[in-house]
Parts: sequence; C-alpha cells; structure tokens
Amino acid sequence: MEYISTRGSAPALDFEGVTLAGLASDGGLYLPCEWPRFDADEIAAMAGLPYPELAARIMAPFVAGSLSDDELLTLCRAAYGRFAHAAVTPLVQLDQRQWLLELFHGPTLAFKDVALQLLGLMFEKFLARRGSNLTIIGATSGDTGSAAIDAVAGREGIDIFMLHPSGRVSDVQRRQMTTVRAPNVHNIAIEGSFDDAQRHVKRMFADTGMTSRFNIGAVNSINWARLMAQVVYYFAAGLQLGAPHRPIAFSVPTGNFGDVFAGYVAQRMGLPIARLIVATNVNDILHRALSEGDYSTGKLTPTATPSMDIQVSSNFERLLFDCGGRDGAALAQQMRAFEQTGAMRLTNAQREGASGLFTSARADAAEMARALRWAHEQAGQVIDPHTAVGLHAALASDLDPAIPIVTLATAHPAKFPDAVERATGVRPALPMRVGDIFAREEACSHLPGDYEAVRDFIAERATEAG
Ligand SMILES: *Cc1c(COP(=O)(O)O)cnc(C)c1O
Repeated sequence: MEYISTRGSAPALDFEGVTLAGLASDGGLYLPCEWPRFDADEIAAMAGLPYPELAARIMAPFVAGSLSDDELLTLCRAAYGRFAHAAVTPLVQLDQRQWLLELFHGPTLAFKDVALQLLGLMFEKFLARRGSNLTIIGATSGDTGSAAIDAVAGREGIDIFMLHPSGRVSDVQRRQMTTVRAPNVHNIAIEGSFDDAQRHVKRMFADTGMTSRFNIGAVNSINWARLMAQVVYYFAAGLQLGAPHRPIAFSVPTGNFGDVFAGYVAQRMGLPIARLIVATNVNDILHRALSEGDYSTGKLTPTATPSMDIQVSSNFERLLFDCGGRDGAALAQQMRAFEQTGAMRLTNAQREGASGLFTSARADAAEMARALRWAHEQAGQVIDPHTAVGLHAALASDLDPAIPIVTLATAHPAKFPDAVERATGVRPALPMRVGDIFAREEACSHLPGDYEAVRDFIAERATEAG
C-alpha cells in the first residue's frame, strides 16, 4: 500500500515508511492512496474470529509490502495477548439499544493501548530490519503518554520523550508515566496546555536542525498505524451486532479526532455504519465545525475529561482531505491560513462530505455527570467521565431507534476516580495489573513553556541517527 500526504507535496511512502515517519515532511498527515474495501460476504466471513485474527484480516491490505500476513498475525497475537480480557474489546449491553465497547482492558487502562501495544512491536521490527534507531517525541493530555511509554519501555533502538502539561493530568495518569523506570524513557512536565505541548512537538518535526540529527518518530495519532489498529474494534463491535446485515451507530468521545476517524475508515472499508456521533466536552471546536462549518479555536477550559481538552484536532485534517476531494495543494493553503489565524470555514464539499455520516454533540459538566449516573443506576455500569460524554451524546441522539448505538468506553473509571465518585458515590478501584504506582518513586523533568528549552533538552539526551 502506498501512502500520500494531506498537503500534497511530501513523497509517497510505504507502510513501514509512514510508521517510522509520523508526520509528513510537508506538515501534512499520511493516508492510504485508496481505501481497501471488503464486500458483504467477506465481512460475514469474519464473524467469530478471535480478535488477533480479525485484526490481521482487517489490517492486511494496509501493511501489504511491509509485513507478510504471518508477520502481522504474530505481532497481533503478541500485542493483544497482553490484554486482561479474552475478547480484547468486549461489548456490554446497557439497555435495548445502548451498548458500551470497553476499550480499556490493556496495560494502561485506556483505548490508546489497543494501537500502541501493536505500534511498539512494529517499531522494533522495522528498526531491527533497517539497523537504525528512533527518537520518539510526543505530547500527551494523559493517556497517550502512559500507553506509549508502556509500549516502548526497554525496547531496543528507541528513546521516548513524552511531554505532558504540568499539573493538568490526573495523578493516576501522571504516575503511570513517571514511575516507569527504563533508561530509554524521558518524562517532561511542561508549562502550558496540551495544545502548547503539541505545538512544540509539531515544530520539532519541521525543525531541520533536529530532523537532520535524529530520526524523529511519532506516537500521537498523527501516526497512521495507530488509526489503522483502531479500525479493528469498529469491525469487532459491528460483527457482534449483526454486520454486514444490520447498520450500527457509534458515539465517540473525541479529542484529536483519531478514534472517530478510525470509524470513518471502517465505514469506507464497507462496515455498515449509519452514523458516527462526535461527542465533545465544552471544548467544542469539532461540534461547531461539524454543525456550523466554523473551525475556530476558542479559549481552552480544563474539564473532568482532560483527554478531550483540545482546541486543535490534528486528525480533522484527514477528514477534510478525504471529504474535500483529496486536493493536497488546496488543503495546504487552507491549513496554513488556519495556523496563522486560528480560524477557518469548511468548504461546501467538506461540509457535505462530512454531514452524511457525522453528527456531533457536546456535553457540559452536568450532562456528563448525569450520563455517568444513568449508567450506574439504570445499567449497573461504572463508567469513566470521557465515556460519559459519549454516552450523553448517544442518549440524546435522534437516530432511528432500530439502530443500535455503541458508545466507545475509552478509559477505565479508576483513571478518574474523583469525578466518578462525585457523580455516583462509588470510588472505582485500580485493577491489579496497574501495580503499585502510588508507592513507587517518580522521575520527571520540569521545563518552561518555550520551544528552545524542549529542543535543547532532547538534543542533549537523544541518540543521533546511525
Ligand atoms: C485520547 C482519549 C480520547 C480522545 O481520543 P482522540 O482519538 O484524540 O479523539 C478520549 N477519551 C480518552 C479516555 C482518551 O484517552
């Protein structure tokens, strides 16, 4: 499979190339040059496959030329063998039509593990093949950081530098990162918001002083391999609820638009998805973009759902590209203007392309808490606040009641115990697999919020490209 950039001027790469590159050299994001499609018979034949086999079946067209079917299956079995549930992503019924897809059974308790456990193994395989090394630089609003660190800690040929906004991630989230003691793991608490941290990371990818010295790689959802791995659980849920013969809807707690974009890819590949509901908290740039065509950044409000406290959703660019006629030159111009002014209007083609499949909804703190209580009282399920934002949107949907709605349960409730306890009176316990993070010592460097400080810190510690 060949991959092209959303901004039209970076070289096309194969799967191995885009996995190691992360961001494209023109500032764009990589996408497959065409969407593989499964017909109804092929989808029906996937019913009942164990998760690792389903994963290998769905991803095979995307990795063709870089991994054989056998290599891919071996990696999937190793990655998903570390999950604490035999189904990997089990489906739980809440009422007649509402379902939860539990994506938090991996080592760090959020859906990020589903993709990052696999990505860590792919990095190792590709680097060994090339005899080279990788400097991973990432920004996290909480969950990406711990999942990425778990996935690469101690792995050969990889250093990881993870920036988190100082004081703005939960204690559990921070400790899951800072208590991992491996010489290749570097935690950085940085002044400012998640968006500020993400901006530093993006700038580093464009800083030739850095890119000429280091092989810089990405674990944020700008990395295509992450989205690819997330497509699988949409199929897993759909198959259980009657696909290809019955349409399904998904409600997705959304921040960087990665998870919900994976749903879009599943639909393009043939899964009968009737609707994708983009659920946001009060940081609602995506809700405004999809409902009014107005993609403009506002002031960031910290919420009880920090992984969705985002003003700029990187992966939205992928949707704009695909829906807007795949015109890289035009999109590059649109994105440059957005980067200068912090605002843009969607084109008519982009709005029409998105409106057929996507709707959006926003939940404030009270609505989030109400959905959390509803799950507990009506369905006996303790859910996390991010999941509750998705469930609020699912419960408010005006979709045909015959269509089941699956809310993606993106984190384990024990990651956010205070908000869960406030809403339900129940304080969820951390599962055993997380270990004694509250007893272990933390290791973390604190940096001011300027790019140069981050750059110099990394340049002093990273391994030069071989
Ligand atoms: C990362 C994250 C999200 C947002 O996912 P995106 O792919 O960035 O849209 C939602 N909920 C939780 C718990 C997360 O960790």
